[in-house]
Formats: sequence, structure tokens, C-alpha cells
Amino acid sequence: MKLPAVINVQKFSVHDGHGIRTSIFFKGCLLSCWWCHNPESQSFDRELMFDPGKCTGCGLCVKACPHDAVTVGEDGHAHTSKGTCVTCGACLDWCPNECREIVGTQRYAVDELVQKALEDQQFYERSGGGVTLSGGECMIQDSDFMEELCRKLHFEGIDIAIDTCGYAPLGTYRRLLPYVDTWLYDIKMIDEERHIKYIGRSNDVVLRNLEFLAHNGASLNIRIPTIGTVNDDDESMLAIIEYLKSHVGMPPVNLLPYHTTGSSKYTRLGRPYLARDLQVPSEERMEHLKDLFLQHGFDNVQIGG
Ligand code: SF4
Ligand code: SF4
Ligand code: SF4
Repeated sequence: MKLPAVINVQKFSVHDGHGIRTSIFFKGCLLSCWWCHNPESQSFDRELMFDPGKCTGCGLCVKACPHDAVTVGEDGHAHTSKGTCVTCGACLDWCPNECREIVGTQRYAVDELVQKALEDQQFYERSGGGVTLSGGECMIQDSDFMEELCRKLHFEGIDIAIDTCGYAPLGTYRRLLPYVDTWLYDIKMIDEERHIKYIGRSNDVVLRNLEFLAHNGASLNIRIPTIGTVNDDDESMLAIIEYLKSHVGMPPVNLLPYHTTGSSKYTRLGRPYLARDLQVPSEERMEHLKDLFLQHGFDNVQIGG
């Protein structure tokens, strides 16, 4: 069984479902949302992150690299050739300014994750919490691994939430359905052309999987990342409302306002930040969109979450 890379095991999380939770963030996602706050979680591979703002150009990493992947440029900063770097991490200990980091080095066996989760079981019981499997995208990881993890957590009586973008094999949803208590399910937009533009893939798979869950008794919580100039207009939200009412029902909805936290990670990964010109929706706009859902019969709508 292939052990997936884990970005972080976050204890005492209160933003990823009910109560106090342990959130496990897996690395790898097939989507590429412009506004992704965790771009280091998109690739399934280990990656080097480098903070040019802290780099003094001392050159110690140049000497430390056994693969000659680093040079110090005329701008006074280290530059690493992505094609040559094998993410071995040998340079990390030599940087006096902690500019360099490798993400995606942690891999846990199922039993190790279950043990970590069990350490806080008393907090889950007191708060109505549990474990949230997130990402990146947890549902695109090895399905044998994910099913065993969910089965064992379920056997221990731990509440399980899955935080998913919906772009993963239907078979994995089918396998995990018996063990999962809550599905935190992202919808971004219904319009196919804009979905492909801003997210990189068709929404066919996302909607098919959501309908499967809705028709098979899953407890759903719809989460809508809400981004100015992308989907915070009435037309986009009404399309989501109409779709949910006709194909899914009226589950709880969380409207998640876009924020720019995470934009510096793009610099550290050496990637362009496509969302630079996107707008943070105003509080008034968010309240208006919440009202839109309420007016259409949804009775559990929250901003944030
Ligand atoms: S991670 Fe390894 S290969 Fe990459 S720059 Fe550092 S020492 Fe060189
Ligand atoms: S060791 Fe650190 S500070 Fe020195 S050049 Fe390399 S990245 Fe920059
Ligand atoms: S679905 Fe989530 S993890 Fe994947 S690219 Fe979009 S925001 Fe990032």
C-alpha cells in the first residue's frame, strides 16, 4: 500500500468541522484553483520552498548541495535549478537564515495516524469533535489507505469529517461512505467554462460525486469559496442555489470569503500567483449572498467556518 505524503497533522483545530479536531492534510490535488491558499499541497511530490526575502546570498547552500543545483545570482539571492534539485534536503541545515524548507517529507502508516488521533479522544468526546481528513485532496490518495484509515478511526468511535474538492474517483467515495460522519464538500461554480478557467478542470466529476453522496444518505456540508470577480455575483450564486435545490437538497452551507493568506507561498515555490488581481469580497457582499441562500429556503447558512 502506498503511504501518502502528509503536509501537516494539526491538533486542536476548530475550523474543519464540529468541535475540537485533529486535521490531517494530505499532499496532492488534481485541481489548480487560482486562489489556493496551500499551493504546496497541490503536487504529490516533495518540493523545495525558498524564502528570497530572508536570503543574504552567503552561498553556504551552494557548497552544501551535492548536485550543484544552487547558484547565487547577481540579485544576491540563491537560485535553485528545479530540474537539477532532487529535494534531498542536504542544504537545509547549512542555511543560517532558515530560508529553505522541504515539504512533503512526512509519510505515516495508518496505525500511526490512528494513534495520533486517539491521543486527543477525550477532547473530541467533550466537544463533539473528531478527525478531519483534508488536503490538498484526501480523496485522491491511495483508496486502500484511506479506507483502512477511516475504518479504523470509525471502529475507535472517532467522528470523521472529509474535506473534499470533489475531484476524485467515484470508487473512493463509495468505499469511504460507510465510515464518514460529515462531508465538507466544496463547490466553486456551476459554469463549466469558468470552472475550467479558474480551477483547471471540468466540474462534471465534482458534481457527479456530490450527487452520489446526496443520493446515498451522506451528511453534507457545502462549502463555497467566495471570490470577488470570480463567483461573488448573484448570477453565479443563484446557479449554485438552483443546482443544489434540484440535485442535492438544502444542506448546511458555509460561504468562505477569499483571503490573500498564502500568497507568499507562491514566491517561496517559485510559482506565479494568478489570484493577484482577484478581489476579497466585502462584508456587505457576503451578507447579501447569505441572504440570497436564506431567501431560497436554505436555513443553515454561515459566513466562514
Ligand atoms: S534539496 Fe538537495 S538537491 Fe536540492 S538544492 Fe538542496 S541540497 Fe541541492
Ligand atoms: S544558505 Fe540560505 S542565506 Fe545563504 S545563500 Fe543559501 S539560501 Fe541564502
Ligand atoms: S481544491 Fe483545494 S487544494 Fe486543490 S487547488 Fe483548489 S484550493 Fe488548492
